[in-house]
Amino acid sequence: MNLDNIRGMKFLDSHIHMTSRTTDDYEAMSKAGVVAIIEPSFWLGQPRTEVGSFKDYFSSLVGWERFRASQFGIHHYCTIGLNSKEANNEALAEQVMEILPMYVCKEGVVGVGEIGYDDQTPAEDKYFRAQLELAKEVNLPVQIHTPHRDKRAGTSRSMDVVEEHGIPPHMVVIDHNNEETVKEVLDRGFWAAFTIYPKTKMGKERMVEVLKKYGPERIIVDSSADWGVSDPLSVPKTASLMLSHGIPKEHVEQVCYQNPLEVYKQSGQIDENDWLNPQGVDQRELYNGNSVLRGQEPMVNK
Ligand SMILES: [Zn+2]
Repeated sequence: MNLDNIRGMKFLDSHIHMTSRTTDDYEAMSKAGVVAIIEPSFWLGQPRTEVGSFKDYFSSLVGWERFRASQFGIHHYCTIGLNSKEANNEALAEQVMEILPMYVCKEGVVGVGEIGYDDQTPAEDKYFRAQLELAKEVNLPVQIHTPHRDKRAGTSRSMDVVEEHGIPPHMVVIDHNNEETVKEVLDRGFWAAFTIYPKTKMGKERMVEVLKKYGPERIIVDSSADWGVSDPLSVPKTASLMLSHGIPKEHVEQVCYQNPLEVYKQSGQIDENDWLNPQGVDQRELYNGNSVLRGQEPMVNK
């Protein structure tokens, strides 16, 4: 895909799981204009069996992965939470809940997430609510994963529960929307994020139509790229397609950059100045003695 028409634009991908991506992805994202990313905590495909696995995962999100992104000129932030799938292992979920308060207050954590429903079980409901209370306590935005099965009802229910817990909609991003859910999410005052997957679910072309119909207010485009079939360039590619369909550049910037910045800025942990005055990249730097290089010539442009 030719991305010439987005040259010079800035993007913020507010949902991408970089721990499962490569340095090639970081390079391509940086080249395409991605200046900052938010990595939500989620499940890893293989279910975790010990709370220690969660600890190490959360630590890597605020530590190594943040460093790794910086080595390619990308600013990395994350959201911390117990995902809905693993909420179903209640014995483990209890232990994870105990360590969450320690991680949500770390530097670079811009929200509690991604939390919500998968199969809409009682255990999922219990830990979704407990984490909404945590978000309220520490005054952080909430990033909500909506179920892929029974999506419409699951999305409505997620918003009902948020309202029940007294969290204002401007603090909450409802993700994985589609044409069926977007209207209600916007009408109720929440941020409506769309995950753009290649070939399936919500695609780029469909996103263009959604934007034409609803405009850019409170809409967010993200990639949700992970270890599954997905595309870390979904945000710049969708932006390019939007422009080629005549959507005004300001609207494209709003949904691919400004809106996610607005909502997560409420954490006090992310600011445009973080990348508007870039510190540059120095690949000679180490993190706990480790480098991203394997004998290559380090890129240095400080
Ligand atoms: Zn995700």
